Amino acid sequence: MLNNNKLTGFAASVTKAMGVPAPMHAEAPLAAVDALVKAFSKSGMADRVLCYNPDCLAFWLYQKYTDLFIPVMIRTQLTMPMRAVFPPVTPVNFGTMFTGAMPVVHGIRKYEKILIRIDTIFDALVRAGKKVALLVRTDSSMSKIFLERPIDYFIYDSDKEIEETGLRLIREDKYDFLLVYQMDYDDRIHETTPESEVSMSALNRHIRTFATLSDAVKEHWKKHDTLLAFAPDHGVHETVMGVGDHFADIDVDMNMVHFWAFQPAE
Ligand SMILES: [Zn+2]
Repeated sequence: MLNNNKLTGFAASVTKAMGVPAPMHAEAPLAAVDALVKAFSKSGMADRVLCYNPDCLAFWLYQKYTDLFIPVMIRTQLTMPMRAVFPPVTPVNFGTMFTGAMPVVHGIRKYEKILIRIDTIFDALVRAGKKVALLVRTDSSMSKIFLERPIDYFIYDSDKEIEETGLRLIREDKYDFLLVYQMDYDDRIHETTPESEVSMSALNRHIRTFATLSDAVKEHWKKHDTLLAFAPDHGVHETVMGVGDHFADIDVDMNMVHFWAFQPAE
């Protein structure tokens, strides 16, 4: 079966947590994220957000390899079964995640890395005076579909450089919204299979990266009420050709797992 929580709720959940008007076409926020912020925030909202986006982490990976996710589970309070929008490919789904709008509204309806011209979470945050940084991989969808905004782009050839820069920016403590995107797992599944040794080791690295970033936030953002999201874009299946892929309206491709955490100011 398909998960019920819709990806269109992501954008307004973040802006509501930060006390900022939602992007213009965003659909309703997720009730659970609102409840998380109300339960844990000292100020009643979040003044910082760390958004970690590992590409392609399917819900079934969490069902089948639950213990692998322990480093994420113990650092977060919410586990959310989520449903991608169709087609379950990267630019369509990150387009929806960061506009809160369906593909027909944000304009990317198939696998193409074109600029999104409607209002995004990044535009909404900048209007509210927030400082935004995107850490993304060279030539990835994420490095192209959200260009031309007054935000800082850090574009690297490897996940490793992205993690190092993420840690540095957390230490420097000057961005209100930090987005860290990684794609090693997605790269490996297309070259091999979703459960190959190299794919599973990439999955494990994504989990470690989130744990490392989350611990750095705890150490360096002590003065801030921080909302953290672990938010992949779609799932994956093994094709009859014997490689990993994702494009179909089936639960393994459409379902993914999100985690959310709130770290209150001390
Ligand atoms: Zn892919």
